[in-house]
Amino acid sequence: MPWSEREFRRPRNAAALAEAIRGLTGPGRPLRLMEICGTHTMAIAKAGLRELLAPGVQLLSGPGCPVCVTPAGAIDGVLALSERPGLVIASYGDLLRVPGSVRGDTLLRRKALGAAVLTVYSPLEAVEAAAQDPGRDYVFLGVGFETTAPGTAACLLEAAARGLANFSVLCLLKRTEPALRALLAAPDLAVDGFLCPGHVAAVTGAEAFRFLPEEYGLPAVVSGFEAGDILYSVWRLARMHAARRPGLENEYTRLVRPQGNPAARAAVDRVFLPAASVWRGLGEIPASGYALRPEFAPWDAARKFGFAPGPGAEVPGCRCGAVLRGACAPRACPLFGRACTPADPVGPCMVSAEGACAAAYQYGAPTEAAAAHGG
Ligand code: SF4
Repeated sequence: MPWSEREFRRPRNAAALAEAIRGLTGPGRPLRLMEICGTHTMAIAKAGLRELLAPGVQLLSGPGCPVCVTPAGAIDGVLALSERPGLVIASYGDLLRVPGSVRGDTLLRRKALGAAVLTVYSPLEAVEAAAQDPGRDYVFLGVGFETTAPGTAACLLEAAARGLANFSVLCLLKRTEPALRALLAAPDLAVDGFLCPGHVAAVTGAEAFRFLPEEYGLPAVVSGFEAGDILYSVWRLARMHAARRPGLENEYTRLVRPQGNPAARAAVDRVFLPAASVWRGLGEIPASGYALRPEFAPWDAARKFGFAPGPGAEVPGCRCGAVLRGACAPRACPLFGRACTPADPVGPCMVSAEGACAAAYQYGAPTEAAAAHGG
């Protein structure tokens, strides 16, 4: 079933794909596939793919939401940093509503109480704001995966070129591969294949996911983000699983090349080194984050301000850590839809526009079956 780009978008072909997937999965234990990208999580929920493909396929959400995997201790440290006089925190909007260890204590709340917090849509906006306001220190919160790392690297190169002394980056960026390896080392994880994030692969290259079939014997498909992309990718995963021939396939060829984006990768390598990082739900994982290279020390907010993440703790009752490991469906959290809603979220998975709990709340079918199948 080799679909052209236009064909997989046709509704009748989507129905045929769903039928073909059912033919490959059959009764018995469902095929368990994990997506590791918040954009996939939202697209799956919005299109109702979880319900469409159950019971033969179980779609699990992994640690794919960048805001959600930022641990409570790091947020606590950021909140403490926001109290410093003369310092402005610049951040993407999603992070502003993420609580640390105390329910409701967020950058947004601190801003209402008088802290200087600036919402930006790109790191270069923060660089410009710092250049226009030399009397204050601007700290950009660098969060995200390989997708946002090049933009953060570019703003550090710009700040260094301009010799901006009042700009720095607090680097909370994450790397996907070490986290996937840590996830796969967990004894309770039962996954038959991975939907790999197309936009991460656009930077790293599809080949960055080859370790999944070669070292773990798991099929992997780099997927785009339309419902048709995801259905087609699930079919390709189901086909490899049924044939017991795990491999790496690239469904998102209209954007992703085998070696990714060389310019973006070069910018990241120029500025960052791999470093240990703490993930919500997964703990500290070697080489799963980025640290600024020594020559960029003047723009490293962690050094400049003695950033100290706290030990961090989940808000009592919140199961975000387990949700991020694919070990708990959002609806299986006792707080889901009761004490925790998008209007009054308890944990980051309900805060973020890419969080699994927010996706399940906004689009999921409110049934036990949805909970049993990852919804
Ligand atoms: Fe955390 Fe709320 Fe999700 Fe429960 S429903 S895991 S409290 S975000």
